Amino acid sequence: MNQAIHQPFGTVFAPTMSLARYDGEAWSAVEIVASDRLELHPAAHVLHYASTCFEGLKAYRHPDGSVAVFRLNDHIKRMENSAKALSLPPPPSDMLEQMIIDLLDEHRSLVPEAPAAMYIRPTLIGTEPSIGKAAAPSSTAMCFVLLSIVGDYFSGGVRPLTLLVEDRFGRAAEGMGRVKTGANYASALRMIIDAREQHPGVDQVLFSPNGDVQETGAANFMLINGDRLITKALDDSFLHGITRDSILQIARDQGYRIEERELDTDELLALAGDSEAALSGTAAVLSGVGTLIFSGEKVAVGNGKVGEKTLALRQALVDLQAGIANDRHGWITRI
Ligand SMILES: *Cc1c(COP(=O)(O)O)cnc(C)c1O
Repeated sequence: MNQAIHQPFGTVFAPTMSLARYDGEAWSAVEIVASDRLELHPAAHVLHYASTCFEGLKAYRHPDGSVAVFRLNDHIKRMENSAKALSLPPPPSDMLEQMIIDLLDEHRSLVPEAPAAMYIRPTLIGTEPSIGKAAAPSSTAMCFVLLSIVGDYFSGGVRPLTLLVEDRFGRAAEGMGRVKTGANYASALRMIIDAREQHPGVDQVLFSPNGDVQETGAANFMLINGDRLITKALDDSFLHGITRDSILQIARDQGYRIEERELDTDELLALAGDSEAALSGTAAVLSGVGTLIFSGEKVAVGNGKVGEKTLALRQALVDLQAGIANDRHGWITRI
C-alpha cells in the first residue's frame, strides 16, 4: 500500500467496487464485484452517445483511525444534477450514500495516512443496447463506485503552474459546463494538447471564451488580490467545484472579502502582477499559479511563485479534511 501512493494519480484501485443496475423501472440490489472489468453490450448508449457522468471525492484517515469522507452529500447532490442534465436516472441518494460508505468500510485498511487519501469515483452510465438512440435517452443504466488510493499531489514539492489563457473557446458546450460528464473532457482535450505542444511548460488551459475567465480542464480558478478573493459567480458555463465552495467559506472565515462575479481577461492581466492565483479541485486541493501566457506573452502572477495566501488557505482545508482542524461546517462524514 505504501507503494500505491507513489503511482500516478488514479491508477491504483481497491480490488472490488459496488455496482447497481437500473432496468428502466427500478434499481437492483447493490452488488460488490471485481473492480477490473465491466460487461457491456457493444451498442451500450454510453459508448456511442456519451451518456455518462461521474463524481470525485475523497476519504481521509483521521488521527483517531476513523475514515472521514469530505462533503459526501454535496457530491451525491451534484451527481443527481448531472444525471438529470443528461436524462439518466439519478441514483437515489440513500442508495449511493450506502454504496460509498459500505465500500469504504470494506476497504478501510487501504485508506492511507493523510495527506494521501482514498479517492472515490461514483460513475453513472447509460447501458441500453441501441445505436438507434442518438437523440433519445438510454432507458437502462448502471451506477458503480470505484476506489483509488492516491498520494499527496504535493509530495514532489509545490511548483507554480503555468496556464495558457484561451480567450476564444470554452471547454464545454453551451450550458453543459456545470455537468461532470465525459464529453466535456473529450472535447477540451485537443485544445489542451495543442496548448502544451505550442507553448512548452504550459500545465493547463484557462478557458476564457470572449474574455470571460471560467476555469481549466478540471479545476476552478481564483484570484487573490490583497484581502479580496475573486472568482466567477456560479452559472451554467462551468463546474461548481465543491473545493471552490470550501475555499470560499474558509477564506470568508479568515476575513477575506469574497467577490463572486465576472472577471475578464483584461482585469485578470491588469491585476496579475500584484495578486496570487490558484486552481481548486478535489485532486489537487489548491494549486498555485505562477505564470499566465496570453497572446504568446508571459505574464507573472505576483512574484511567479506559489503565493503565501494560497498555501495558507490550502493548509487550512487540508487540516480540516485530515481531522487536524475542527469541522465547524459539518463537512465530514465519519465511518
Ligand atoms: C471536478 C471538476 C472541478 C472541481 O470540482 P471539485 O468538486 O472541487 O472537485 C472543477 N472543474 C471541472 C471541469 C471539474 O471536472
